[in-house]
Amino acid sequence: MAQEASSDQPYDVVIVGGGPAGLTAGMYAARAALRALAIVGEATMSQVTITDMIENYPGIPGGVNGFDLAERMKTQAVGFGLKTVLGDVTAIVRKRWGSHEGWEISAGGLRYGALAVIVATGAIWRRLGVPGEERFIGRGVSFCATCDGPFYRNREVAVVGGGDAAIQEAIYLTRFAKKVTVIHRRNRLRAAGSLQKHALANEKIAFAWDSVIEAIEGGDAVRLIRLKNVKTGSVQEIAVDGVFVFIGLTPNTATFRELIDLDEGSYIKVDANMRTSAPGIFACGDCTAKRFRQVVTACGDGATAAYSAQLYVDELKGEAY
Ligand code: NAP
Repeated sequence: MAQEASSDQPYDVVIVGGGPAGLTAGMYAARAALRALAIVGEATMSQVTITDMIENYPGIPGGVNGFDLAERMKTQAVGFGLKTVLGDVTAIVRKRWGSHEGWEISAGGLRYGALAVIVATGAIWRRLGVPGEERFIGRGVSFCATCDGPFYRNREVAVVGGGDAAIQEAIYLTRFAKKVTVIHRRNRLRAAGSLQKHALANEKIAFAWDSVIEAIEGGDAVRLIRLKNVKTGSVQEIAVDGVFVFIGLTPNTATFRELIDLDEGSYIKVDANMRTSAPGIFACGDCTAKRFRQVVTACGDGATAAYSAQLYVDELKGEAY
């Protein structure tokens, strides 16, 4: 039975998620003197924490390790008064708090009251699930070409997938790598025609059709992949320095399915002010429906969501000015 964690007084804002979007929302909310709590998932790690080096976060020339950046964001947010707890959110229900309509969130066996909720649960790149993949994340296996591509100057990399993301990122990687092999499980790409045209015309891009990776191998870093042709069954070893996996994203939004409108890919629909279809619920970062998923855009979304939540809570309490 879940216990009450927040007595009779709800938090002004409860943020679900502890990645860049959630921590930025928490920092802005706490700094605006709202009672703010971030519930950070126990099972899933934010994507940023598995990124070896982030070179394009403004204001940090020379780059920063993703885990370190997330820790610094947390320290900054907590410094302004953000409370954090660990727990996986299992339910959110409408609840009246005194004269205010709000929410009750269940997480880790406890219940938290909130006048406003900010969902910042992120999305995870789908994994291949082959031997070596987990072991080499950050040491040759990557899910972000923008983040890690520059480390593969004049080296050979593989890209897995045949959709827009795989083909767009394969083209991007040719800026750095001397050879990019696109590995696709069929003999036809899913990506948009214009992207296909560019990729097929690019001399640095080779295609391994009807192929899947069976294993990723190496020592301290990736050295080769074992590639299986699904039509002939033949297996060959290909020497590569990096493997970029783009086989689709899965947003962490299952808990909110009945509560707020999602798009066909299960991303949360938001307006420009990060409002969802439910009053008092806001969303930001990678779990939302948008085009560009980067740390810096997640932070921007988080700041906007916190400001919208602040206006909402002020209005609710009759304190808007
Ligand atoms: P996607 O369109 O779902 O494509 C995933 C690709 O990965 C498909 O080619 C699929 O093969 C392959 N795949 C899936 N599971 C696999 C597995 N277990 N092993 C090997 N291959 C596997 O995903 P996405 O490319 O990430 O794009 C997601 C969404 O973002 C799409 O709506 C896309 O249009 C959009 N997007 C747009 C742009 C752009 O506008 N420039 C850029 C990036 C993404 P099959 O083809 O055989 O199914």
